[in-house]
Amino acid sequence: MKTQTIPPEERTLLTEQLYGEEIAVSGPFQCDLCGREITASNRVMYDALRISDLPKLQATLDIPECWMLDAARCSHCETDTLDPTTNGIDEVLMSLPIHESNGVLSADTTEVTVLEYSPSADGYYPPAVNLGMLVRQGDLGLLRWSRLKWVLDHLPQAHPLVSDIQTLVDQSIEKPPEV
Ligand SMILES: [Zn+2]
Repeated sequence: MKTQTIPPEERTLLTEQLYGEEIAVSGPFQCDLCGREITASNRVMYDALRISDLPKLQATLDIPECWMLDAARCSHCETDTLDPTTNGIDEVLMSLPIHESNGVLSADTTEVTVLEYSPSADGYYPPAVNLGMLVRQGDLGLLRWSRLKWVLDHLPQAHPLVSDIQTLVDQSIEKPPEV
């Protein structure tokens, strides 16, 4: 995938909608991929998403069409690509400072660096959806091909999520070759 520059108006929306978003209100700040604890003294890499063209799912789960933090990445899980990207979802890979106030961590988007951007019109047809799993995990990122690929590449075969996700991948209309 060629790197896309995020349009200025989109960058403004991202900055406004994620500003002050609370992270790790209770408990440690953990990598959303591998679970390692993240020290928030430096900039942290984050995936952000906006579900913007999956109308049935948005209506069913009442998902607002705004930018949301998807997954924090510890230094072990940093990446330089959003591939494979997903159609219907705007995706951003960014790094930003984390602000701490009274023990509450929040996103400081005033100094965000957008590393990669994939508009919703780009990417593979969305993977098949298991609503029960989505609600149980509370993780809309599992609608993204890149997150599914990460699960299959990194979690042990015996992990309960792996077989559920493999089933979804097998049921999907289009499957990225790298998954
Ligand atoms: Zn990690």
